[in-house]
Amino acid sequence: MVSRKARLATSRSVPDTPAAEAPPFGPQASSIVLDLLPVPAALVDLNGDRFAFEAVNRPFRMAGLGTVAAESPVIRLLGSRIRGFLESDETHLEFAWQFGDEVDCRYFRVMFARRAGRRSALRCLVTLVDQTAELRTEHSLRREMMTDSLTGLPNRAGFSDMLENAVGADAIEGYAVLAVNLDRFSRVNACMGALAGDELLISLARRLKGALRGRDVLARMGGDEFGILLTLDDGPGDALHVAKRIHAALANPFRLSDFEIRVECSIGVALGSHDIEDPEDLIRHAQFAVKRSKKSGRTEIYQARTFDIAREQFGMETELRRAIDSGKLTLSFQPICDLASGRIVSFEALARWTNEQGVRLSPSEFIPVAEESGLIVPLGRWAMEEAARTLAEWDATAGGDCGVKVAVNLSAIQLQRDQIAPMVKAALDTHGVSGTRLTLELTESAIVTDPDRIAQTMKALKDLGTTLAMDDFGTGYSNLAYLQRLPIDLLKIDRSFVSGMLADRDKVAIVRAILSLAHALGMETTAEGIETNELGQTLAALGCNYGQGFLYARPLEAGDAYALLQERNA
Ligand code: C2E
Ligand code: CA
Ligand code: CA
Repeated sequence: MVSRKARLATSRSVPDTPAAEAPPFGPQASSIVLDLLPVPAALVDLNGDRFAFEAVNRPFRMAGLGTVAAESPVIRLLGSRIRGFLESDETHLEFAWQFGDEVDCRYFRVMFARRAGRRSALRCLVTLVDQTAELRTEHSLRREMMTDSLTGLPNRAGFSDMLENAVGADAIEGYAVLAVNLDRFSRVNACMGALAGDELLISLARRLKGALRGRDVLARMGGDEFGILLTLDDGPGDALHVAKRIHAALANPFRLSDFEIRVECSIGVALGSHDIEDPEDLIRHAQFAVKRSKKSGRTEIYQARTFDIAREQFGMETELRRAIDSGKLTLSFQPICDLASGRIVSFEALARWTNEQGVRLSPSEFIPVAEESGLIVPLGRWAMEEAARTLAEWDATAGGDCGVKVAVNLSAIQLQRDQIAPMVKAALDTHGVSGTRLTLELTESAIVTDPDRIAQTMKALKDLGTTLAMDDFGTGYSNLAYLQRLPIDLLKIDRSFVSGMLADRDKVAIVRAILSLAHALGMETTAEGIETNELGQTLAALGCNYGQGFLYARPLEAGDAYALLQERNA
């Protein structure tokens, strides 16, 4: 690097010398002088309209710049600039020049020089210094400067660069930045040495990456802090979802040489909003929020007006409690179809809530509030009861088994806090519905939090005859050993892998891997988020059993769902 620079510096100064003393040399003499130059050089004459080379040196010829003016790209491409220079009073002109197509482009520093006061002799020295290698080195150096060498992730500088590129200030509302900070990392470093610390950071980066969707950006901001740039498809709830997935991904201990280390983290979230002018602010806000998270022990969202948010959250909690008590929540039902036959095999029950101001809130907004406040237990009980009641109603209308199952979501927190199997049994008994008609959707995070307890619960649910599905599969930390040991019947492949899959090889690879894993473990598969026919057909061809998504139907009210069932399965 240094030696190349030195060479460059000398080669730059050389052309000035002969030019400044522009010689009354004859062509031969000029050619000898030019040949002393280590860089491409030509003495160019302008006679009326025509350029001529009085002399060119060997590097000039070797660089493919020609021997005859009429055929030289230098004259073709720079002729008018040379003319402009010769017709001016300047003695020296220097500029950057690109030569060649995009793939094979070379970068030159071009210099024109001639003797002062000799305008009449329209002659100048043209030298070119090839800087292609330097520029390439500069580019890769820049890339290196943007990358964290330990994890290979973008570093702080790289992250803010990507943030700036991804997010125009006008589009910032669809984004969030998460700051993830390890708790007690310095203790690992102190007790086990920096090498173990490095190893931990690398495995941690891998797990974090695994908890994200393909297009989310993960960066190492320095030390034990990571940054994440998220696109919000479904609003702010997405960010909380991801935070939950990250906690779940860390639930299993890391194995470092002979030790198992449990690592926890604090997460701060900054949501893009229209009053943010500089994307960098998002990073600062997220870092501010992560500090609060260290104290509070839960994910914190940065808010300039923290009090309003706390009040809003508290307000939502009170209102949700009232809504559950007074039966203001409803269930929507979204069909799940057999990809081979197109028949509806079940309906997933999804909670809906229109609040007292008439605003329809999405479950991704109120389920986290319910989980945080403990309201998830009564909410979950209500959902189970309502789903069983609806299925019994459909059966009654059909005059027997209406031919489909219902799927009910169970939150990880609900599984920790409630006696799930007795609760499910009670709902089934009340409405005279057989357990074989019910699917329960659990997430990976439910398994990792308390594997032994969950294994018992799952066994009890299997004893009731229910089907057990692993929801959002692929987004969390999948421990194959548990998957194998637990009585799981079905994997639901997360929407983030399915949508846009046809245009993304990585996603196809993940979906294929999940399908073959499921096959090997004797489980069935449902793909979520199918919005196009082509996607449904591709998934069927890949061997996926069932599909769910807007292509078949959006979540529907119970009556409409039943009508659809009659129509499709007739
Ligand atoms: P989930 O279990 O993954 O449910 C599927 C979500 O994807 C639903 O969103 C559904 O409307 C949406 N979806 C279905 N097909 C498509 C599609 O083709 N394209 C797109 N873009 N989206 C599609 P929803 O109803 O907003 O529910 C969000 C999440 O809230 C659910 O995700 C589930 O985790 C949770 N949830 C909903 N109801 C309950 C409940 O009663 N109890 C618990 N514990 N969680 C619930
Ligand atoms: Ca689900
Ligand atoms: Ca899902």
